Amino acid sequence: MNSSKVIAGKFPDAPPPRVGFVSLGCPKALVDSEQILTQLRAEGYGVSPSYAGADLVVVNTCGFIDSAVQESLDAIGEALAENGKVIVTGCLGAKGDIVQKTHPKVLAVTGPHALGEVMSAVHAHLPMPHDPFMDLLPPQGVKLTPKHYAYLKISEGCNHRCTFCIIPSMRGDLVSRDIGLVMREAENLVKAGVKELLVISQDTSAYGVDVKYRTGFWNGKPLKTRMNDLAAALGELGVWTRLHYVYPYPSVDETIELMADGKILPYIDVPFQHASPRILKAMQRPASGERNLERIEAWRKVCPEITIRSTFIAGFPGETEAEFAELLAFVEAAKIDRAGCFAYSPVEGARANDIAGALPPEVREARQAEFMRVQGNVSRRRLARKIGKTIKVLIDAVTPEGATARSSADAPEIDGNVFVEQPARRADQAKLKVGEFVNVKISGSDMHDLWGKLV
Ligand code: SF4
Repeated sequence: MNSSKVIAGKFPDAPPPRVGFVSLGCPKALVDSEQILTQLRAEGYGVSPSYAGADLVVVNTCGFIDSAVQESLDAIGEALAENGKVIVTGCLGAKGDIVQKTHPKVLAVTGPHALGEVMSAVHAHLPMPHDPFMDLLPPQGVKLTPKHYAYLKISEGCNHRCTFCIIPSMRGDLVSRDIGLVMREAENLVKAGVKELLVISQDTSAYGVDVKYRTGFWNGKPLKTRMNDLAAALGELGVWTRLHYVYPYPSVDETIELMADGKILPYIDVPFQHASPRILKAMQRPASGERNLERIEAWRKVCPEITIRSTFIAGFPGETEAEFAELLAFVEAAKIDRAGCFAYSPVEGARANDIAGALPPEVREARQAEFMRVQGNVSRRRLARKIGKTIKVLIDAVTPEGATARSSADAPEIDGNVFVEQPARRADQAKLKVGEFVNVKISGSDMHDLWGKLV
Protein backbone atom coordinates (compact mmCIF):
# COMPACT_ATOMS: atom_id res chain seq x y z
CA MET A 1 0.00 0.00 0.00
CA ASN A 2 1.36 3.44 -0.90
CA SER A 3 0.10 6.51 0.81
CA SER A 4 1.03 9.75 -0.88
CA LYS A 5 2.77 12.37 1.22
CA VAL A 6 2.45 15.93 0.04
CA ILE A 7 3.32 18.92 2.21
CA ALA A 8 0.40 21.30 2.38
CA GLY A 9 0.83 25.02 1.78
CA LYS A 10 0.09 27.39 4.67
CA PHE A 11 -2.95 29.67 4.99
CA PRO A 12 -2.48 32.95 6.88
CA ASP A 13 -4.58 31.88 9.86
CA ALA A 14 -6.23 28.47 10.16
CA PRO A 15 -4.68 25.53 8.29
CA PRO A 16 -6.72 24.39 5.26
CA PRO A 17 -8.85 21.24 5.44
CA ARG A 18 -6.61 18.21 4.98
CA VAL A 19 -7.23 15.08 2.94
CA GLY A 20 -5.47 11.77 3.46
CA PHE A 21 -4.81 9.69 0.36
CA VAL A 22 -4.32 5.96 -0.11
CA SER A 23 -3.37 4.96 -3.65
CA LEU A 24 -3.50 1.31 -4.74
CA GLY A 25 -3.25 -0.42 -8.08
CA CYS A 26 -1.66 0.04 -11.48
CA PRO A 27 -0.02 3.05 -13.18
CA LYS A 28 -3.40 4.14 -14.61
CA ALA A 29 -4.78 4.32 -11.09
CA LEU A 30 -1.67 6.21 -10.04
CA VAL A 31 -2.32 8.84 -12.72
CA ASP A 32 -5.89 9.18 -11.42
CA SER A 33 -4.48 9.66 -7.92
CA GLU A 34 -2.07 12.32 -9.16
CA GLN A 35 -4.88 14.18 -10.89
CA ILE A 36 -7.05 14.12 -7.77
CA LEU A 37 -4.15 15.28 -5.59
CA THR A 38 -3.30 18.05 -8.06
CA GLN A 39 -6.89 19.27 -8.06
CA LEU A 40 -7.06 19.11 -4.26
CA ARG A 41 -3.90 21.22 -3.99
CA ALA A 42 -5.09 23.62 -6.72
CA GLU A 43 -8.21 24.24 -4.67
CA GLY A 44 -6.15 24.86 -1.53
CA TYR A 45 -6.68 21.58 0.36
CA GLY A 46 -3.82 20.25 2.40
CA VAL A 47 -2.75 16.61 2.07
CA SER A 48 -2.09 14.68 5.25
CA PRO A 49 0.48 11.86 5.44
CA SER A 50 -1.38 10.26 8.37
CA TYR A 51 -4.95 9.20 9.07
CA ALA A 52 -4.92 11.14 12.33
CA GLY A 53 -3.99 14.44 10.66
CA ALA A 54 -6.64 14.12 7.91
CA ASP A 55 -10.18 15.50 7.98
CA LEU A 56 -11.19 12.93 5.36
CA VAL A 57 -9.50 10.09 3.46
CA VAL A 58 -9.74 9.19 -0.24
CA VAL A 59 -8.94 5.56 -1.08
CA ASN A 60 -8.14 4.85 -4.74
CA THR A 61 -8.78 1.12 -5.15
CA CYS A 62 -7.87 -1.72 -7.47
CA GLY A 63 -10.30 -4.44 -8.50
CA PHE A 64 -8.24 -6.43 -10.98
CA ILE A 65 -7.80 -9.80 -9.24
CA ASP A 66 -9.24 -11.26 -6.05
CA SER A 67 -6.19 -10.44 -3.94
CA ALA A 68 -6.29 -6.82 -5.15
CA VAL A 69 -10.00 -6.65 -4.28
CA GLN A 70 -9.25 -7.91 -0.80
CA GLU A 71 -6.35 -5.51 -0.34
CA SER A 72 -8.59 -2.62 -1.39
CA LEU A 73 -11.41 -3.67 0.94
CA ASP A 74 -8.90 -3.97 3.80
CA ALA A 75 -7.49 -0.52 3.04
CA ILE A 76 -11.00 0.98 3.11
CA GLY A 77 -11.68 -0.80 6.43
CA GLU A 78 -8.44 0.54 7.90
CA ALA A 79 -9.20 4.10 6.78
CA LEU A 80 -12.70 3.87 8.25
CA ALA A 81 -11.38 2.56 11.54
CA GLU A 82 -8.57 5.14 11.78
CA ASN A 83 -10.35 8.19 10.40
CA GLY A 84 -14.05 7.48 9.83
CA LYS A 85 -14.66 9.76 6.80
CA VAL A 86 -13.81 7.85 3.64
CA ILE A 87 -14.45 8.41 -0.08
CA VAL A 88 -13.68 5.46 -2.35
CA THR A 89 -12.68 5.77 -6.00
CA GLY A 90 -11.04 3.53 -8.60
CA CYS A 91 -11.69 0.19 -10.26
CA LEU A 92 -13.29 -1.53 -7.28
CA GLY A 93 -15.90 1.23 -7.22
CA ALA A 94 -16.96 0.20 -10.72
CA LYS A 95 -17.55 -3.43 -9.63
CA GLY A 96 -21.19 -3.36 -8.54
CA ASP A 97 -21.95 -2.55 -4.93
CA ILE A 98 -19.24 -4.66 -3.25
CA VAL A 99 -17.78 -1.59 -1.49
CA GLN A 100 -21.10 -0.42 0.00
CA LYS A 101 -22.02 -3.98 1.01
CA THR A 102 -18.72 -4.53 2.82
CA HIS A 103 -18.35 -1.02 4.20
CA PRO A 104 -21.76 0.71 4.34
CA LYS A 105 -20.27 3.71 6.19
CA VAL A 106 -18.22 5.03 3.25
CA LEU A 107 -19.34 8.53 2.23
CA ALA A 108 -19.23 8.04 -1.55
CA VAL A 109 -18.03 5.53 -4.14
CA THR A 110 -16.98 6.30 -7.71
CA GLY A 111 -15.41 4.33 -10.53
CA PRO A 112 -11.97 5.06 -12.05
CA HIS A 113 -11.11 8.34 -13.93
CA ALA A 114 -13.74 10.19 -11.94
CA LEU A 115 -11.95 13.37 -10.92
CA GLY A 116 -15.11 15.49 -11.03
CA GLU A 117 -17.13 13.03 -8.96
CA VAL A 118 -14.40 12.62 -6.36
CA MET A 119 -14.05 16.40 -6.07
CA SER A 120 -17.83 16.76 -5.72
CA ALA A 121 -17.80 14.23 -2.89
CA VAL A 122 -14.88 16.03 -1.21
CA HIS A 123 -16.70 19.38 -1.58
CA ALA A 124 -19.85 17.87 -0.09
CA HIS A 125 -18.16 16.36 2.96
CA LEU A 126 -15.24 18.74 3.46
CA PRO A 127 -16.08 22.12 1.96
CA MET A 128 -13.23 24.58 1.47
CA PRO A 129 -13.96 27.76 3.43
CA HIS A 130 -13.95 30.77 1.11
CA ASP A 131 -10.88 32.86 1.85
CA PRO A 132 -11.22 36.42 0.56
CA PHE A 133 -7.43 36.95 0.82
CA MET A 134 -6.46 33.87 -1.11
CA ASP A 135 -9.33 33.41 -3.57
CA LEU A 136 -9.40 35.71 -6.54
CA LEU A 137 -12.99 34.79 -7.37
CA PRO A 138 -16.11 34.83 -5.24
CA PRO A 139 -17.49 31.29 -4.69
CA GLN A 140 -20.20 31.84 -7.31
CA GLY A 141 -17.60 32.92 -9.93
CA VAL A 142 -17.75 36.11 -11.98
CA LYS A 143 -21.19 36.72 -13.46
CA LEU A 144 -22.20 39.15 -16.15
CA THR A 145 -25.91 38.86 -15.41
CA PRO A 146 -27.67 40.89 -12.67
CA LYS A 147 -27.28 39.48 -9.18
CA HIS A 148 -30.71 37.84 -9.04
CA TYR A 149 -30.51 35.53 -12.08
CA ALA A 150 -27.71 33.48 -13.62
CA TYR A 151 -27.07 31.11 -16.50
CA LEU A 152 -26.00 27.61 -15.59
CA LYS A 153 -24.09 25.96 -18.41
CA ILE A 154 -24.34 22.18 -18.18
CA SER A 155 -22.46 21.06 -21.29
CA GLU A 156 -20.43 22.22 -24.24
CA GLY A 157 -20.65 21.12 -27.88
CA CYS A 158 -23.29 19.05 -29.66
CA ASN A 159 -23.62 15.54 -31.13
CA HIS A 160 -26.14 16.61 -33.79
CA ARG A 161 -25.32 17.85 -37.23
CA CYS A 162 -28.15 20.16 -38.23
CA THR A 163 -27.43 21.24 -41.76
CA PHE A 164 -27.85 24.97 -41.06
CA CYS A 165 -25.57 25.01 -38.03
CA ILE A 166 -21.79 25.17 -37.69
CA ILE A 167 -21.60 24.96 -33.89
CA PRO A 168 -20.40 21.31 -33.80
CA SER A 169 -17.56 22.15 -36.19
CA MET A 170 -16.53 25.00 -33.91
CA ARG A 171 -17.15 23.51 -30.47
CA GLY A 172 -16.96 19.79 -31.11
CA ASP A 173 -19.13 16.97 -29.78
CA LEU A 174 -21.14 17.06 -26.57
CA VAL A 175 -19.10 17.23 -23.36
CA SER A 176 -21.32 17.18 -20.26
CA ARG A 177 -20.10 18.88 -17.12
CA ASP A 178 -19.91 16.79 -13.96
CA ILE A 179 -23.33 16.92 -12.30
CA GLY A 180 -21.80 17.40 -8.85
CA LEU A 181 -19.85 20.43 -10.05
CA VAL A 182 -22.95 21.85 -11.78
CA MET A 183 -24.97 21.45 -8.57
CA ARG A 184 -22.19 23.01 -6.50
CA GLU A 185 -22.08 26.00 -8.84
CA ALA A 186 -25.88 26.30 -8.62
CA GLU A 187 -25.74 26.16 -4.82
CA ASN A 188 -23.06 28.86 -4.70
CA LEU A 189 -25.14 31.05 -6.99
CA VAL A 190 -28.18 30.63 -4.76
CA LYS A 191 -26.09 31.42 -1.67
CA ALA A 192 -24.90 34.59 -3.44
CA GLY A 193 -28.51 35.77 -3.90
CA VAL A 194 -29.51 34.32 -7.29
CA LYS A 195 -33.28 33.71 -7.47
CA GLU A 196 -33.51 32.24 -10.93
CA LEU A 197 -31.24 29.67 -12.62
CA LEU A 198 -31.38 29.45 -16.41
CA VAL A 199 -30.10 26.08 -17.59
CA ILE A 200 -28.33 26.37 -20.94
CA SER A 201 -26.35 24.19 -23.35
CA GLN A 202 -26.60 23.39 -27.07
CA ASP A 203 -28.88 20.43 -26.36
CA THR A 204 -30.08 20.24 -22.76
CA SER A 205 -32.00 16.98 -23.21
CA ALA A 206 -28.78 15.24 -24.30
CA TYR A 207 -27.07 16.04 -20.99
CA GLY A 208 -25.07 13.00 -19.86
CA VAL A 209 -25.29 11.03 -23.14
CA ASP A 210 -21.52 11.34 -23.63
CA VAL A 211 -20.76 9.96 -20.14
CA LYS A 212 -23.45 7.26 -20.37
CA TYR A 213 -25.50 9.03 -17.68
CA ARG A 214 -22.69 8.42 -15.18
CA THR A 215 -23.55 8.67 -11.50
CA GLY A 216 -22.12 11.74 -9.81
CA PHE A 217 -22.50 13.00 -6.26
CA TRP A 218 -24.05 16.03 -4.69
CA ASN A 219 -23.98 16.45 -0.92
CA GLY A 220 -22.97 12.82 -0.68
CA LYS A 221 -26.05 11.63 -2.58
CA PRO A 222 -25.72 9.79 -5.90
CA LEU A 223 -27.16 11.66 -8.86
CA LYS A 224 -27.27 10.49 -12.48
CA THR A 225 -25.91 12.83 -15.15
CA ARG A 226 -29.35 13.24 -16.79
CA MET A 227 -31.48 16.29 -17.49
CA ASN A 228 -34.42 15.13 -15.39
CA ASP A 229 -32.27 14.19 -12.40
CA LEU A 230 -30.49 17.54 -12.64
CA ALA A 231 -33.79 19.42 -12.95
CA ALA A 232 -35.22 17.62 -9.91
CA ALA A 233 -32.07 18.39 -7.85
CA LEU A 234 -32.09 22.05 -8.93
CA GLY A 235 -35.75 22.14 -7.92
CA GLU A 236 -34.64 21.43 -4.34
CA LEU A 237 -32.66 24.67 -4.15
CA GLY A 238 -35.81 26.74 -3.60
CA VAL A 239 -35.32 29.16 -6.52
CA TRP A 240 -36.75 29.34 -10.03
CA THR A 241 -35.22 26.87 -12.49
CA ARG A 242 -35.85 27.52 -16.18
CA LEU A 243 -34.84 25.06 -18.92
CA HIS A 244 -33.60 26.22 -22.31
CA TYR A 245 -32.84 24.26 -25.51
CA VAL A 246 -34.75 21.09 -24.72
CA TYR A 247 -35.56 18.75 -27.63
CA PRO A 248 -38.94 17.00 -27.62
CA TYR A 249 -37.71 13.48 -26.87
CA PRO A 250 -40.05 11.13 -24.97
CA SER A 251 -37.97 11.66 -21.78
CA VAL A 252 -39.23 15.26 -21.69
CA ASP A 253 -42.63 13.94 -20.55
CA GLU A 254 -40.98 13.32 -17.17
CA THR A 255 -39.67 16.91 -17.17
CA ILE A 256 -43.21 18.21 -17.63
CA GLU A 257 -44.26 16.28 -14.52
CA LEU A 258 -41.57 18.13 -12.54
CA MET A 259 -43.15 21.34 -13.81
CA ALA A 260 -46.65 20.22 -12.87
CA ASP A 261 -45.34 19.40 -9.38
CA GLY A 262 -43.93 22.93 -9.03
CA LYS A 263 -40.31 21.70 -8.82
CA ILE A 264 -39.14 23.74 -11.81
CA LEU A 265 -40.79 26.56 -13.75
CA PRO A 266 -43.61 25.52 -16.11
CA TYR A 267 -41.61 26.88 -19.04
CA ILE A 268 -39.90 25.00 -21.81
CA ASP A 269 -37.74 26.36 -24.58
CA VAL A 270 -37.92 23.84 -27.43
CA PRO A 271 -36.21 24.88 -30.66
CA PHE A 272 -38.62 23.25 -33.14
CA GLN A 273 -37.24 25.20 -36.16
CA HIS A 274 -40.00 23.92 -38.45
CA ALA A 275 -43.10 21.75 -38.65
CA SER A 276 -42.87 20.17 -42.10
CA PRO A 277 -41.40 16.64 -41.81
CA ARG A 278 -39.62 17.08 -45.12
CA ILE A 279 -37.95 20.32 -44.08
CA LEU A 280 -37.06 18.92 -40.64
CA LYS A 281 -35.42 15.98 -42.37
CA ALA A 282 -33.49 18.30 -44.68
CA MET A 283 -32.41 20.23 -41.59
CA GLN A 284 -31.38 16.92 -39.94
CA ARG A 285 -33.02 18.06 -36.73
CA PRO A 286 -32.88 15.96 -33.58
CA ALA A 287 -36.25 14.41 -32.69
CA SER A 288 -37.58 15.32 -36.14
CA GLY A 289 -39.60 12.10 -36.21
CA GLU A 290 -41.55 12.98 -33.04
CA ARG A 291 -45.21 13.88 -33.36
CA ASN A 292 -44.75 17.31 -31.87
CA LEU A 293 -48.35 18.51 -31.91
CA GLU A 294 -49.60 15.45 -30.04
CA ARG A 295 -46.73 15.73 -27.62
CA ILE A 296 -47.50 19.38 -26.85
CA GLU A 297 -51.17 18.55 -26.28
CA ALA A 298 -50.16 15.84 -23.85
CA TRP A 299 -47.80 18.25 -22.05
CA ARG A 300 -50.59 20.78 -21.68
CA LYS A 301 -52.87 18.14 -20.16
CA VAL A 302 -50.25 17.31 -17.53
CA CYS A 303 -49.22 20.93 -16.90
CA PRO A 304 -51.92 23.35 -18.14
CA GLU A 305 -49.96 26.47 -17.14
CA ILE A 306 -46.89 25.56 -19.21
CA THR A 307 -45.39 28.26 -21.44
CA ILE A 308 -43.83 26.98 -24.65
CA ARG A 309 -41.08 29.03 -26.26
CA SER A 310 -39.48 28.06 -29.52
CA THR A 311 -37.35 29.25 -32.40
CA PHE A 312 -38.07 28.73 -36.09
CA ILE A 313 -36.45 29.29 -39.46
CA ALA A 314 -38.55 30.62 -42.35
CA GLY A 315 -37.42 30.33 -45.95
CA PHE A 316 -35.14 27.28 -45.56
CA PRO A 317 -33.76 26.20 -48.97
CA GLY A 318 -36.50 24.44 -50.93
CA GLU A 319 -39.33 25.46 -48.56
CA THR A 320 -42.52 25.52 -50.63
CA GLU A 321 -45.57 27.73 -50.03
CA ALA A 322 -47.41 24.67 -48.72
CA GLU A 323 -44.59 23.79 -46.31
CA PHE A 324 -44.51 27.35 -45.02
CA ALA A 325 -48.30 27.21 -44.54
CA GLU A 326 -47.76 23.97 -42.56
CA LEU A 327 -45.38 25.85 -40.27
CA LEU A 328 -47.93 28.64 -39.65
CA ALA A 329 -50.69 26.10 -38.99
CA PHE A 330 -48.45 24.34 -36.45
CA VAL A 331 -47.74 27.56 -34.56
CA GLU A 332 -51.49 28.24 -34.34
CA ALA A 333 -52.48 24.69 -33.43
CA ALA A 334 -49.66 24.20 -30.90
CA LYS A 335 -50.37 27.66 -29.43
CA ILE A 336 -46.68 28.50 -29.26
CA ASP A 337 -46.63 31.16 -26.55
CA ARG A 338 -43.27 32.72 -27.33
CA ALA A 339 -41.23 32.49 -30.51
CA GLY A 340 -38.30 33.86 -32.36
CA CYS A 341 -38.14 33.39 -36.12
CA PHE A 342 -35.14 33.93 -38.36
CA ALA A 343 -35.23 34.32 -42.10
CA TYR A 344 -32.87 31.57 -43.33
CA SER A 345 -29.41 32.97 -43.76
CA PRO A 346 -26.63 31.01 -45.44
CA VAL A 347 -24.00 30.76 -42.70
CA GLU A 348 -20.56 30.15 -44.21
CA GLY A 349 -19.64 26.48 -43.92
CA ALA A 350 -23.22 25.22 -43.33
CA ARG A 351 -24.22 22.22 -45.44
CA ALA A 352 -27.74 23.59 -45.95
CA ASN A 353 -26.25 26.11 -48.38
CA ASP A 354 -25.81 23.25 -50.86
CA ILE A 355 -29.47 22.21 -50.73
CA ALA A 356 -31.25 23.00 -53.98
CA GLY A 357 -34.01 25.60 -54.12
CA ALA A 358 -32.48 28.58 -52.28
CA LEU A 359 -35.13 31.27 -51.90
CA PRO A 360 -34.50 34.94 -52.70
CA PRO A 361 -33.82 37.09 -49.61
CA GLU A 362 -37.08 39.05 -50.06
CA VAL A 363 -39.13 35.82 -49.94
CA ARG A 364 -37.31 34.61 -46.82
CA GLU A 365 -37.85 37.95 -45.12
CA ALA A 366 -41.52 38.18 -46.13
CA ARG A 367 -42.10 34.69 -44.67
CA GLN A 368 -40.33 35.64 -41.48
CA ALA A 369 -42.52 38.76 -41.14
CA GLU A 370 -45.67 36.71 -41.82
CA PHE A 371 -44.60 34.17 -39.22
CA MET A 372 -44.12 36.90 -36.61
CA ARG A 373 -47.55 38.36 -37.43
CA VAL A 374 -49.29 35.00 -37.00
CA GLN A 375 -47.36 34.08 -33.86
CA GLY A 376 -47.90 37.58 -32.46
CA ASN A 377 -51.64 37.01 -32.61
CA VAL A 378 -51.27 33.67 -30.83
CA SER A 379 -49.19 35.38 -28.15
CA ARG A 380 -51.73 38.20 -27.77
CA ARG A 381 -54.56 35.69 -27.23
CA ARG A 382 -52.51 33.61 -24.79
CA LEU A 383 -51.57 36.65 -22.70
CA ALA A 384 -55.15 38.03 -22.64
CA ARG A 385 -56.20 34.83 -20.82
CA LYS A 386 -54.17 35.99 -17.84
CA ILE A 387 -56.19 39.14 -17.17
CA GLY A 388 -57.83 38.92 -13.76
CA LYS A 389 -55.39 36.27 -12.51
CA THR A 390 -52.83 36.77 -9.75
CA ILE A 391 -49.32 35.64 -10.66
CA LYS A 392 -45.93 35.52 -8.96
CA VAL A 393 -43.27 37.74 -10.53
CA LEU A 394 -39.57 38.42 -10.00
CA ILE A 395 -38.60 42.11 -10.06
CA ASP A 396 -35.84 43.06 -12.53
CA ALA A 397 -35.91 46.85 -12.14
CA VAL A 398 -37.60 49.51 -10.06
CA THR A 399 -38.80 52.46 -12.14
CA PRO A 400 -40.57 55.80 -11.44
CA GLU A 401 -43.76 54.11 -12.71
CA GLY A 402 -43.41 51.09 -10.40
CA ALA A 403 -41.38 48.02 -11.40
CA THR A 404 -40.46 45.88 -14.39
CA ALA A 405 -40.78 42.20 -13.54
CA ARG A 406 -41.06 38.78 -15.13
CA SER A 407 -43.35 35.84 -14.50
CA SER A 408 -42.65 32.12 -14.98
CA ALA A 409 -43.58 32.69 -18.65
CA ASP A 410 -40.81 35.20 -19.28
CA ALA A 411 -37.12 34.41 -19.68
CA PRO A 412 -34.89 37.48 -19.30
CA GLU A 413 -33.93 39.36 -22.46
CA ILE A 414 -35.94 37.20 -24.87
CA ASP A 415 -39.54 37.18 -23.62
CA GLY A 416 -41.94 39.82 -22.34
CA ASN A 417 -42.29 41.69 -19.06
CA VAL A 418 -44.86 42.25 -16.37
CA PHE A 419 -45.11 45.97 -15.59
CA VAL A 420 -46.15 46.56 -12.00
CA GLU A 421 -47.98 49.79 -11.24
CA GLN A 422 -46.55 52.05 -8.52
CA PRO A 423 -48.55 51.24 -5.35
CA ALA A 424 -50.12 54.17 -3.52
CA ARG A 425 -48.98 53.12 -0.02
CA ARG A 426 -45.36 53.70 0.95
CA ALA A 427 -45.19 50.30 2.71
CA ASP A 428 -46.18 48.62 -0.56
CA GLN A 429 -43.70 50.67 -2.56
CA ALA A 430 -40.95 49.28 -0.32
CA LYS A 431 -41.90 45.76 -1.45
CA LEU A 432 -40.81 46.58 -5.00
CA LYS A 433 -37.14 45.66 -4.75
CA VAL A 434 -34.90 44.21 -7.46
CA GLY A 435 -34.57 40.45 -7.02
CA GLU A 436 -37.72 40.09 -4.87
CA PHE A 437 -40.74 37.94 -5.66
CA VAL A 438 -44.15 39.62 -5.37
CA ASN A 439 -47.70 38.71 -6.39
CA VAL A 440 -49.41 40.82 -9.03
CA LYS A 441 -53.02 40.89 -10.22
CA ILE A 442 -53.04 41.23 -13.98
CA SER A 443 -55.18 44.01 -15.43
CA GLY A 444 -53.89 44.45 -18.98
CA SER A 445 -51.98 42.74 -21.80
CA ASP A 446 -50.73 43.23 -25.35
CA MET A 447 -48.77 41.09 -27.80
CA HIS A 448 -45.76 40.55 -25.50
CA ASP A 449 -46.28 42.09 -22.06
CA LEU A 450 -48.63 42.21 -19.09
CA TRP A 451 -49.59 44.99 -16.69
CA GLY A 452 -50.79 44.61 -13.14
CA LYS A 453 -51.01 45.75 -9.53
CA LEU A 454 -49.28 44.47 -6.44
CA VAL A 455 -51.59 42.38 -4.24
S1 SF4 B 1 -28.69 23.55 -34.20
FE1 SF4 B 1 -28.38 22.91 -32.11
S2 SF4 B 1 -28.78 20.70 -32.17
FE2 SF4 B 1 -28.40 21.31 -34.26
S3 SF4 B 1 -26.20 20.99 -34.56
FE3 SF4 B 1 -26.49 23.13 -33.98
S4 SF4 B 1 -26.16 23.13 -31.79
FE4 SF4 B 1 -26.56 21.00 -32.38
